[in-house]
Amino acid sequence: MPDLPDFDWPSFLPGWVWLCGAGPGDPGLLTLHALHALRHADVVVYDALVEPRILDWAPQAEAIYAGKRGGKPSPLQRDISLRLVDLARAGRRVLRLKGGDPFVFGRGGEEAQTLVGHGIPIRVVPGISAGIGGLAYAGIPVTHRDVNQSVTFVTGHDQTGAAPSALDWGAIARGSEVIVIYMGLKHARQIAGELLAAGRDASEPVAIVTDATTPRQAVLETTLARLPEDATKVEPPGIICIGRNVLLRHTLDWQAGPKHLDPLGNRSRPESA
Ligand code: SAH
Repeated sequence: MPDLPDFDWPSFLPGWVWLCGAGPGDPGLLTLHALHALRHADVVVYDALVEPRILDWAPQAEAIYAGKRGGKPSPLQRDISLRLVDLARAGRRVLRLKGGDPFVFGRGGEEAQTLVGHGIPIRVVPGISAGIGGLAYAGIPVTHRDVNQSVTFVTGHDQTGAAPSALDWGAIARGSEVIVIYMGLKHARQIAGELLAAGRDASEPVAIVTDATTPRQAVLETTLARLPEDATKVEPPGIICIGRNVLLRHTLDWQAGPKHLDPLGNRSRPESA
C-alpha cells in the first residue's frame, strides 16, 4: 500500500469520532480521507456491510463490530451511539465506519446527533453509496439524459421494519422516472404493488444488484411485474433499481468486457451472475 499523496491531511485527534463511509464493498472505492482515518484510528467501530478486508488496513486499531445482521442479537442504535461517546471520552481516536455513505439510510445522522449532543467533536467523511456506485458497477447509470431528469432514493422499510407507510408511492411513481430502493427485498411485493397501482408499467425494467462491487456481485434483470417473485430468489444486501436506465446495462455492463452491439442496441443477454 503506497503512502498517501502529499496533502494537508486533517489530524485525527484523540477524543474525536470520524464518521466515515466505507463504500459499497470494493476497498478501492474508499476515499483517501477514509484511508487516512484507517491508518490513524485507535479503534474502528464497523457495521455488517463494511467489507472485512478494509479492516486489514487498520492493523493497529481495535476492531469493534456493531452490525445488525447475521442472526446475532442486534445492538440497539442508542447503545452504539453511546459506545462511541464513551470511546471518545476515553481519549481514543474513534473511526465509525459505515457501509456506503454514512448519511444515506445508514443512521449516521442519528449517531452524529448523539455525538454532538454529548459534546464530542466529529468529522464526517462521505462514501460512495450503494444506490449510485453499486449500480455503476452493474453498468447502470443512475441518471442518463435520455432517460431521467430525476431519481428518487427510497428505503424499503421504516423504523418498525414494515414497508414504509408514510411514503406517498403515488407521487413517487408519477414524479420520478427512476426509483432506487435500499433495503427493499423483503417488501418488494408491497412496493411493486403500490407502484403498479399508481400507474407504473408492468413491463418496466428492473434490476436487483446484490453484493454490489464485491467479488460476489450478481445482477438479476427483471420487470416490475416479476419483481415480487424475483426478489425472493436473492439474498441481501441488494439494491433495486426501477426505470429504463436499467436497459443501458445491455451496452454498459463493463465488467463483462467489450460488447459487440447489434444495430438496434437491444440484443438479448442471459441474466448474468
Ligand atoms: N449507507 C448505505 C446504505 C445502508 S442501508 C449506503 O449509502 O450505501 C443498507 C442497504 O444498502 C442494503 O439493504 C442494500 O439495499 C444497500 N446496500 C448496501 N451495500 C450494498 C451492496 N454492496 N450491494 C447491494 N446493496 C447494498
